[in-house]
Amino acid sequence: TGEQKEYLGEVQKASSQMASLLDTLLRVARLDEGGMMIERKTVDVVALLDGLFDEIRQGNRDSRLNFVSTLPKTKLLLSTDPVLLPIVVQNLVTNAMKYSPKGGNITIGMKEENGMLHITVTDEGVGIPPEEQERVFEKFFRAKNIRHMLTSGTGLGLYLSKRIMDSLGGRLSFVSEQGKGTVFTATIPKE
Ligand code: ATP
Ligand code: MG
Repeated sequence: TGEQKEYLGEVQKASSQMASLLDTLLRVARLDEGGMMIERKTVDVVALLDGLFDEIRQGNRDSRLNFVSTLPKTKLLLSTDPVLLPIVVQNLVTNAMKYSPKGGNITIGMKEENGMLHITVTDEGVGIPPEEQERVFEKFFRAKNIRHMLTSGTGLGLYLSKRIMDSLGGRLSFVSEQGKGTVFTATIPKE
């Protein structure tokens, strides 16, 4: 029945959140033990990010957020780790969703500049308080303006994402204005 499907949907969502938390915890534990294993492959980053963003959009049709992609329409081949890079983008998009009010736009985009690829995730959410911005990549850090919100989190997503970007020879940065929104940029060298 419809009601049963609804319950099953809840169970499925909870179990996939649990699986993703477990995945993060294991990755952080392994990282702390002995660094990160990178396995490079040549991939079309546009297709990779398109697919990921679409999947997140499909899974959150009831979230009342607007998912906007300004990703280019043409292929872009890059030698990178096809598992680790999506983990970063997934974390950034999940954060954008968690820390945005209903009706907000969540935008993914990409641009090339001076041999670097910049992947951006932009939201119109609560932003990060200026006095706490320097702590955002710390393990277990959660800002005070979101602690009262109905969001769950362990403060590990960005710690892990930053370490992944460093290992891929890139970087992770952001610009945020409290009450206006945040832009996270994952930068990665094209060669
Ligand atoms: P999780 O481990 O599940 O990702 P989390 O989302 O709290 O938990 P991080 O992703 O590491 O942890 O983010 C750390 C903190 O940075 C968040 O708790 C929040 O305070 C702030 N933050 C991150 N992204 C955003 C964003 N897009 N808008 C506003 N605040 C953000
Ligand atoms: Mg997070």
